[in-house]
Amino acid sequence: MRMLNRWVFVLLVIMLPVLVCVTGCQDEQEPELVMATDATFPPYEYYSGEEIVGIDVDVVAEIGRRNGMRTRVENMKFESVIAAVQSGKVSLAAAGITVSEDRKKQVNFTRPYATAEQVIIVPQHSDIAEPSQLAGKKIGVQSGTTGDLYVAQNIQEPERFANGALAVAALVAGKVDVVVLDNLPAEKHVANNAQLKILPTPLTSEQYAIAVNKNQPQLLAMLNATLEAMEKDGTLARIAESHLNSPVATASLPAAEPGIWSSFHNNFIKNNRWKYLLDGLIVTIEISAAAALIGIFLGGLIGIIRSTADQTGRFRVLNLLCRLYLTVVRGTPVVVQLLIIYFVIFGSVEVSKVLVAIVAFGLNSAAYVAEIIRSGIMSVDKGQMEAGRSLGLSYGFTMRSIIMPQAFKNVLPALGNEFIVLLKETSICGYIALVDLTKGGDIILSQTYDAFLPLLAVALIYLSMVVVLSHLLKKLELRLKKNER
Ligand code: GLN
Repeated sequence: MRMLNRWVFVLLVIMLPVLVCVTGCQDEQEPELVMATDATFPPYEYYSGEEIVGIDVDVVAEIGRRNGMRTRVENMKFESVIAAVQSGKVSLAAAGITVSEDRKKQVNFTRPYATAEQVIIVPQHSDIAEPSQLAGKKIGVQSGTTGDLYVAQNIQEPERFANGALAVAALVAGKVDVVVLDNLPAEKHVANNAQLKILPTPLTSEQYAIAVNKNQPQLLAMLNATLEAMEKDGTLARIAESHLNSPVATASLPAAEPGIWSSFHNNFIKNNRWKYLLDGLIVTIEISAAAALIGIFLGGLIGIIRSTADQTGRFRVLNLLCRLYLTVVRGTPVVVQLLIIYFVIFGSVEVSKVLVAIVAFGLNSAAYVAEIIRSGIMSVDKGQMEAGRSLGLSYGFTMRSIIMPQAFKNVLPALGNEFIVLLKETSICGYIALVDLTKGGDIILSQTYDAFLPLLAVALIYLSMVVVLSHLLKKLELRLKKNER
């Protein structure tokens, strides 16, 4: 029992920063407008160097300025921006969002600030010239957009990509025949790709507006009033103008087959793009290491409770709770758990996303570690416990100094395996707008349209980490074996 208390204590110490941040990180001093967006949508939002810029960013910044509020951008997948508004994670979403009846059921929209169309991008020499020729062709879209919806409802199931740039990259690579996209982003992509063009007939005409939580009527009124003023005094037009003419440095595809060096330069050196990988790598390591710690402590605790219950019949209720926990965690995908923890559990609390990811992956990993530890404890011959007890040692002491060291040795390979899985599993962090290693590579890809080098680099970095980790584990295993003799 004493050992259990110590484990609980250690776990609490690890979790303390999380708890402190959950309760104390809210900055209630200065009002802040937090804007959800997906910075793969030039000229509305895109990366310029390491900064997110664009029409939407400027519009929201100006609204903030006129109302004495700071503004901050939260970059995430387009599919998450409405959910972010609904859950209160952000104050508003400005992401070239088309007003639609379905979306109006979820959020309130401001007055429109721009009009748009869904257009068709094809290779220069395509034989497709009309929307009517799309049936049966491979149509690329950005998942969850009005273009996606239109194609799915009126033509056929499209090929869905995470963002427009990836869809265009697939078009350039010949993986799809056409791409359906909003007109201004389409123009930006085409302007940088001599082998693409836009068909003259659009598929739809739409209006963009800012999305706000339904429980925020005052915010909506404020946004509407400011947008109206900005339209009247020409600010809206001026902002749009400034981004229409500025070339988007991000979207460029060399016309000719690039040499490997120039390709390398474009993907990693130009605009310091390697920084996306480095920053992402740090986030990946941070999350994996902290989650592994939670996994080990919480998983160890659960494993001990479960096997003690199995062997001695103690901890009935605790054991039941642990089993429930294992069933739920192992029965649902980790990406769903991550989203639930971010949007629902920490829905209305300001908390660092790295912490959210650490908690999510830590809780997830604990379930698997628990079963590994339990199998380790069960694998130690029952006679050892009996021997310890008959020598007059307590259950806890026997467990701690006789059973656990052997169990640990037995399960080390399985534990190592779990941490390797954990490290790679963190690659879904992009879902909650975290720039981890995978997302870093993704950003480079969306800027250079080159799938090969960024993905290769990301894969090599993961591989090296796994190789180092395996090596360290092997060493530890050898050392433990030596001590045995
Ligand atoms: N206008 C489209 C939509 O609302 C696409 C927006 C975007 O991709 N950022 O669905």
